[in-house]
Amino acid sequence: MDCLFCKIIAGEIPSTKVYEDEFVYAFNDIAPQAPIHVVIVPKEHLQSANDINEENCALIGKIFNAASKIAKELGISENGYRIVNNCGADGGQTVGHIHFHMLGGRSLAWPPG
Ligand code: 5GP
Ligand code: ZN
Repeated sequence: MDCLFCKIIAGEIPSTKVYEDEFVYAFNDIAPQAPIHVVIVPKEHLQSANDINEENCALIGKIFNAASKIAKELGISENGYRIVNNCGADGGQTVGHIHFHMLGGRSLAWPPG
């Protein structure tokens, strides 16, 4: 499949791996928006949050389980961080494989633009 993140998961495009398990892969964002900016993806290709359903929704728990581990590993669990999913054009999604941004290492403004 012609999907950037599927290629990253398969190792066909290099990435800096932060975490991996049976269901989840996480890597450093190529254009970090904070001192820590990790992209967390399910290995299964879903295009966006619109594709979450009764059958596959446990995957999202796997994502947040991974995020909790990553935060502790990277030392941001105490100060906090933000997990963002951009969905579709208005949400700012540019890669069509569902992913969650983990941003941390600085204080983040709210609300987003
Ligand atoms: P979106 O805008 O779809 O929510 O997020 C896509 C993210 O993927 C962006 O933050 C962008 O910097 C990141 N990204 C795009 N291409 C690559 C790449 O080839 N490698 C890595 N590591 N990140 C990428
Ligand atoms: Zn994909």
